[in-house]
Amino acid sequence: MYDQLPLDGMPRRLYSCTPSRLNSWLDCRRRYRFTYLDRPQPAKGPAWAHNSVGASVHNALAAWWREPYDRRTPLTAAVLLTNGWITEGFRDAEQSAQWLGRARDYVTGYTGTLDPSDDPVGVERTVATRTRVIAVSGRIDRLDRRGDELVVVDYKTGRRPLTSDDARSSLALAVYAIAASRMMRTPCHAVELHHLPTGEIVEWRHTDESLGRHLRRAEEVATEAATADERYREVMSAAPRPGAASRRSPAVPVTPTRPASPASPGSAATVPAAGEHPGLGQAATEPIAAAGSPGPAASASRSLPGTPYAPATPPAAPPPELDEIFAPNPGPLCSWCDFRRHCPEGRTAAPERRPWDGLAE
Ligand code: SF4
Repeated sequence: MYDQLPLDGMPRRLYSCTPSRLNSWLDCRRRYRFTYLDRPQPAKGPAWAHNSVGASVHNALAAWWREPYDRRTPLTAAVLLTNGWITEGFRDAEQSAQWLGRARDYVTGYTGTLDPSDDPVGVERTVATRTRVIAVSGRIDRLDRRGDELVVVDYKTGRRPLTSDDARSSLALAVYAIAASRMMRTPCHAVELHHLPTGEIVEWRHTDESLGRHLRRAEEVATEAATADERYREVMSAAPRPGAASRRSPAVPVTPTRPASPASPGSAATVPAAGEHPGLGQAATEPIAAAGSPGPAASASRSLPGTPYAPATPPAAPPPELDEIFAPNPGPLCSWCDFRRHCPEGRTAAPERRPWDGLAE
């Protein structure tokens, strides 16, 4: 059904990935290296408040479906949200409380539109599939059954209005539709973005052909990234052991530019290494920004609210060849990059943001 890249030459090990990893490679290769290859991982900045909002809402909606049928009410959604509220990244307690109220409105309004008897096929459901090139996996916010088909549902909490293009062009949504279909042996062509602030639902219905195009694109990206990963391992294994002062990047400040926030209890947010939750990678990480603001995919690599920050370990300066392979891609999104403190080009390209700057006014 879905064509796959032909492999010429020797068989290659499957590239194991998530859609967030692939998107990270496309967005900025230096950030990809920081996120997935450098170990210890360079220290990230403190948590973003908009991530706290997104993760809190996602957690509450997931928990809501796990409640017994007669407790699936808007009031229960409000209680779940309040009990699991993540406070990291806000300016102060007053701002956190203000946003708790706003997010409570999101979940009560949204759950008020749901049929509590219509159990989803899955909630925060991990799906996976493989081709001859990739083994890809990830977690879907919600998987519905409508008639004879499955529907991938992704929650969004950002302020930016969504269009069907967002659903159509999402590699993650397409890959998850393919994976869900294969795992459940049930057709899955529809993908939906449920925008909590407005209650709008944006849908796209894929064809087998359009899903196949997304999968081939995923394989192409994976092939590039796998080649770069391989080169990284070769270069690093030949490089001197880290630790010598001379290998530290002179551009990297040793002192964090912002204080790390304390870990938040109760955070079950599950953003994979690069903020890969979020369901499909960005739901809980997209800044709650004014319309027209860039959707900082870079923030997908943010520490999860509730996840203790790594110590402020400056990365060793990579051999020059690696800096070419994993070149920076400076631009407006650098404002939201967790690793900008380690990236002179990114700091020059875009201003630093405060942890709560991704919230709407
Ligand atoms: S600051 Fe910008 S250029 Fe630098 S790693 Fe982050 S996203 Fe890439």
